[in-house]
Amino acid sequence: MALLPILTAPDPRLKKKSQPVATVDAELRQLMDDMLETMYAAPGIGLAAPQVGALKRVIVLDIDREEVKTGPLLMANPEIIEASDEDVSYEEGCLSVPEHYAEVVRPAKVRVRYLDREGARQEMECEGLLATCVQHEIDHLDGILFIDHISALKRNMILRKLLKTRKEKERDEAEGKPTDKAKDKDSAHAL
Ligand code: ZN
Repeated sequence: MALLPILTAPDPRLKKKSQPVATVDAELRQLMDDMLETMYAAPGIGLAAPQVGALKRVIVLDIDREEVKTGPLLMANPEIIEASDEDVSYEEGCLSVPEHYAEVVRPAKVRVRYLDREGARQEMECEGLLATCVQHEIDHLDGILFIDHISALKRNMILRKLLKTRKEKERDEAEGKPTDKAKDKDSAHAL
């Protein structure tokens, strides 16, 4: 297993559409396992392949809350086949949009169809945080970030701040300054 570098916005690869997986083979299982390890280390509760630069329709999740405990979920070619009319709003964050959060409205319940780690077809009813997370990760496969669901004004403000942080980090690195700021991220929201 290996930790993979996570791309952050604005990165053109995060805006691309990912390709469906033909078969779940050893190479794909390796990617899934590496993604899961990378997600746990971040820490986060969901990660999509394009976030580590692989334009494949693969997502991993593991939600461990009092109200939902899913265990590790590895999904290839996930698709929403049903969505509730009822919506919920949840304050989302993203490992590719570090340290920014916003309320996003999505269907409260969805049914997702996918191939598991063995390549078997599965269907799962998702609600609560799991429903939010599955929809957030599938969005990544279509080049959509949670900030694409909020106002352009707020989105552009976040993107400008991310660019500024990146430039500061690059300058510090060039000057040999330590850049590893203490992480006090709330991993509750890092999808
Ligand atoms: Zn995300």
